[in-house]
Amino acid sequence: MKTEILRPTSTEHFARAAALIRDGQLVAFPTETVYGLGANGLDAAACARIYEAKGRPSDNPLILHIADLSMLHEAAEDVPPAAAHLLTAFAPGPITVIVPKAAHIPPLVTGGLATVGVRCPAHDVARRLIRAAGMPIAAPSANISGRPSPTTAAMTAADMMGRIPLILDGGSCSWGVESTIVDCTEEGCITILRPGAVTPEMISAELPHLTVRMDAALVSADTAPRAPGMKYTHYAPRVPLTVFAGAGTDVVRALRIEIERRMAAGERPALIASNDTIMALSGLLPAAYTYNCGARGNQSTLAACLYDALRHFDDTDVTSLLAEGAGSVGLGIAIMNRLRKASGGNIIYV
Ligand code: AMP
Ligand code: MG
Repeated sequence: MKTEILRPTSTEHFARAAALIRDGQLVAFPTETVYGLGANGLDAAACARIYEAKGRPSDNPLILHIADLSMLHEAAEDVPPAAAHLLTAFAPGPITVIVPKAAHIPPLVTGGLATVGVRCPAHDVARRLIRAAGMPIAAPSANISGRPSPTTAAMTAADMMGRIPLILDGGSCSWGVESTIVDCTEEGCITILRPGAVTPEMISAELPHLTVRMDAALVSADTAPRAPGMKYTHYAPRVPLTVFAGAGTDVVRALRIEIERRMAAGERPALIASNDTIMALSGLLPAAYTYNCGARGNQSTLAACLYDALRHFDDTDVTSLLAEGAGSVGLGIAIMNRLRKASGGNIIYV
């Protein structure tokens, strides 16, 4: 299949993309978090193509994307007040609410669950596409299952070329990590199933009368996650990744020892780190073996480049990756969650 990459500028462009969606085809599109791989969310056969194109396990449900809150009833019913409150507060934006699904949503979309994830993306291209298609669009991240999510059209093309007819190019995603997923189906309690740019503090501030907690699987490795997809290997680069987390000077010291050790053993390690850390270690590695994530402590910059960094050394002779971690508050929770998965839990706290 030939894949077209289109920067949509006109109503005709969106009409063409929407026609593909209505015809049961797949269209990749940008959101403010990552690129999505979209299909008609009411058409089981179309959604089956998503699982096929990604190589995604069929028990891993898809998120339904709506253009605005007036479309919510097309995806969900009996929406709990807490979910409606969070959508009003944060949508359009990087939050997905888990709510009871509308009867007409195919079981394939929800992995057989009675609930559905719904989100309203804050990206003009995504919203115009959904509006033109006229139905909720089911869309997981537009990567091959297990790989880092794409945050540009080029990264999307690297995984989806030849598998789908159209990629809408909307530039780089502003957040760079997937939406915060919150389970709103339990009385008196909001459970964060996947951390994202909408932080626990932001949710608590909106719903001070409710308990806001992290899913047990985010806290302990021994508990099965309640977002089915969170149990799978995720965001993995092609070579093994080790993450070093802690205070800046300690991380620099530990990285220096580890890089020297690996180079002495004949390995070719690459470093993904803040500008501060790369400067502190200058001369140790060739510049081509480093990826600069901006000023240390700038979590937005780090989140926005994280998946690009994890794919950056794909076609090089690098044999392993070392990365500097983020703090463990705010957006840092989401960044560390993705680094934990990308490294298979290989995090060293120094
Ligand atoms: P992705 O679209 O690739 O960002 O993955 C979507 C994530 O949402 C996966 O981790 C799913 O398991 C999760 N998810 C979607 N629908 C539900 C649901 N009804 N209940 C719990 N988790 C869900
Ligand atoms: Mg994904």
